[in-house]
Amino acid sequence: MDIKNQKFLVLGASKSGFSVLKYLKEKGAECRVYEELKNPKAQSAVEKLAELGIKSVSKEIAEDFLTCVDVLVLSPGVPINHELAVKAKQLGKRIVGELEFAYLQFLPLIVAVTGTNGKTTTVTLIDETLHNAKVKSELLGNVGVPFTSKVCDISGEVVCVAEVSSFQLESTFAFTPHISCVINIAPDHLERHYSMENYVFLKKRIFKNQRESEFAVLNFDDPIVKGFYPEVKAKVIWVSLRDVVDGAYRKDGKLYYKNEYVIDENALKLKGEHNVYNALFAIAVTKILGVESSIIKSSLETFKGVKHRVELVCEKNGVEYYNDSKATNTASTISAIEAINKPLVLILGGSEKGESYDALFEKIKQSEIRQVVITGATRFSMLDCASRLGVNDITVTEDFISAVKISALFAREGDAVLLSPACASFDKFSGFEERGEVFVKAVEEL
Ligand code: ADP
Repeated sequence: MDIKNQKFLVLGASKSGFSVLKYLKEKGAECRVYEELKNPKAQSAVEKLAELGIKSVSKEIAEDFLTCVDVLVLSPGVPINHELAVKAKQLGKRIVGELEFAYLQFLPLIVAVTGTNGKTTTVTLIDETLHNAKVKSELLGNVGVPFTSKVCDISGEVVCVAEVSSFQLESTFAFTPHISCVINIAPDHLERHYSMENYVFLKKRIFKNQRESEFAVLNFDDPIVKGFYPEVKAKVIWVSLRDVVDGAYRKDGKLYYKNEYVIDENALKLKGEHNVYNALFAIAVTKILGVESSIIKSSLETFKGVKHRVELVCEKNGVEYYNDSKATNTASTISAIEAINKPLVLILGGSEKGESYDALFEKIKQSEIRQVVITGATRFSMLDCASRLGVNDITVTEDFISAVKISALFAREGDAVLLSPACASFDKFSGFEERGEVFVKAVEEL
């Protein structure tokens, strides 16, 4: 639970309410108390709280304050059907008793990032920015560090930045991040989730338990993610490249958070429009956590990206070689094609995930692609799709190293060779990392 950046109203100044307020004050939270009892004990508690700098409010002011409050805390003597509690419920506020409040203090502050593509890049960028801002953080989850492996090391001061996949969301029930992010949704993992409908349903679990005391950062430009809005009870912060939204956005080549300028798009070290989305998500999250824009700016200027994601391996004979082995679905390969502004020789193929390749070959048809070299277990299904859609500059080879060598032969000076398979790697490799390493080695040996 994020205490420092939230507003609390505590109903009842009794022993329990008093303790909550004292704790909140010590933690730097904004808090008020509403006490309706006029007896000497209650009034003396209110006076003591005033000495600690905690304001007591009348019923009318409490009612007004409720609209901007994040959490309403009830002392045990105040019933859940108290007028102010009912009003808070109608406003969608988080209501907790003192016992629940104490329990929540054991839980870490979690930033959870999901989406079909961009998760690892975004969480790594958030984590790096928090480090630069001297905020203690841990990078966890699908990024390769199981959350459980760090549970014993996490204190209340640490922000847990977790990459969360649909596989993990399949079995979450109580999980409640303080900030949830959904970067985008495109078809993926349909071999496991059976249908797109089910995949989308699972992604929504990331914000299911959130209330108005939490934040959901959502992509305004993605029709599926935008459509989540009516189901989200957290405060929604939007991300957009196209519109000026309430959140993080691009306008005239500059990136802003709620009217505050953060950085010029051109100053981002990461290339490609997809990475502008990732940067905006990182801006939104770190701004919610109170990081200064100057620190976010310098982090974005230096963040080089993560290995195996549109990573420039080297230039040979005027040809650039990019390793995008992590592109394991068509949406990610499409964004990689858009990110490299050069004629391409594109290496595709790997193991099957049940996805249609139509959108990918449509994109290839419209792009400057000199040759598509298809390899791996999906080579025939991809070839079928390519010929159905009239993409003819295709070479097929079963062997991965041959695919790299053939690509080098097709590439001309000024071109780029891009490994961006749009498929998983398990037909031949232990994972995308091994596929990327083999690619890099093959390129070095050309
Ligand atoms: P994930 O962890 O979700 O798989 P990564 O950050 O590892 O995402 O990126 C995987 C691949 O997806 C990259 O290699 C790139 O091709 C593509 N990609 C990255 N960010 C985005 C994005 N925001 N939108 C679309 N594609 C993206």
